[in-house]
Amino acid sequence: MTVKKLEWIEAPTKKEKPDPNELIFGRMFTDHMFTMHYTEENGWHQPQVRPYEKISLDPASMIFHYGQSVFEGLKAYRSADNEILLFRPEENMKRMNRSNERMSIPSFNEEEMLEYIKQLIEIEKDWVPGEPGTSLYIRPFIIGTEPNLGVHPSHSYQLFVILSPVGSYYPEGINPVKIKVEKEYTRAAQGGTGMAKTGGNYSAGYNAQEKASNSGHAQVLWLDAVEKKYVEEVGSMNIFFKINGEVITPSLSGSILEGVTRKSIIELLQSWGVPVTERKITIDEVIESHREGKLEEAFGAGTAAVVSPIGAFTIDEAQYQVQDGETGELTKALYDTLTGIQTGTVKDHFNWVTEV
Ligand SMILES: *Cc1c(COP(=O)(O)O)cnc(C)c1O
Repeated sequence: MTVKKLEWIEAPTKKEKPDPNELIFGRMFTDHMFTMHYTEENGWHQPQVRPYEKISLDPASMIFHYGQSVFEGLKAYRSADNEILLFRPEENMKRMNRSNERMSIPSFNEEEMLEYIKQLIEIEKDWVPGEPGTSLYIRPFIIGTEPNLGVHPSHSYQLFVILSPVGSYYPEGINPVKIKVEKEYTRAAQGGTGMAKTGGNYSAGYNAQEKASNSGHAQVLWLDAVEKKYVEEVGSMNIFFKINGEVITPSLSGSILEGVTRKSIIELLQSWGVPVTERKITIDEVIESHREGKLEEAFGAGTAAVVSPIGAFTIDEAQYQVQDGETGELTKALYDTLTGIQTGTVKDHFNWVTEV
């Protein structure tokens, strides 16, 4: 498919590039952004790259009242040969349209959208840092813009893509974290919006996250909303356990976000011949396996951290240590392989990587 070259307006002044050793996640943005509009008459139209700047919206815009929005998160990496690489970006485009469907937002052409993102990155290529662990974070999002307080889907939308250079998630090396099993609040219910990347899912988790942080935990481990028995996710990451040689991750139940990292880890493990199962797993089974000395590793998986080893978990007052609080061997191998494929140092047998 050929997509026409985007119309673009160059920023009159350019920002100074940040020190790659002092990047803080999501705080600094590049010189340009991508925008596109939707109306019922014209569909998605007016794709454009223009200077990154404040936007002006009517206070009655529907996004402010009923939160109709979706977003995505992926990264561009600079390889040793100075190529700019994207990791399975077509999966993010597909997922964004699945989120759109759930949130009654009109879908877009996935191939075209990916081509626009590539053109934006091409314009901003000097913003892709090259130091180990750094990348350019890509945040596409859509908001309902119709000025109307009626409770129904917006008739107009804006889609944006903004870019933010981000530093290494592990400046001091990969580090296991302590997590808290959340027994009061839940993240998502069957039939709800847990499988969509939509803003409200995340703000609804802030109170539990704050409580967990206050008691010295890095993340919340979410259980299912009905029985508070089955493990769902950890923070904004999918979760994996290695028990007695087998890797287990909760099956996609409708309330779990279908991570690209999750999917890639399952495919990698299968290719390595490591037994990997998607099924329901109760927190009691995890504790039981720990008691029997069979809980070998546990980790979260997502674009930001790639993998985040779990060193300990707290349930009520009881604390359980995993792997003596060290990073497991398989966790480390998955981290090294995935980051290697993403940055072009490990051979990409799966054809996961796309050059911009
Ligand atoms: C984005 C996200 C993930 C991870 O998805 P990736 O595609 O691997 O980045 C997992 N859980 C939640 C709730 C998320 O929002």
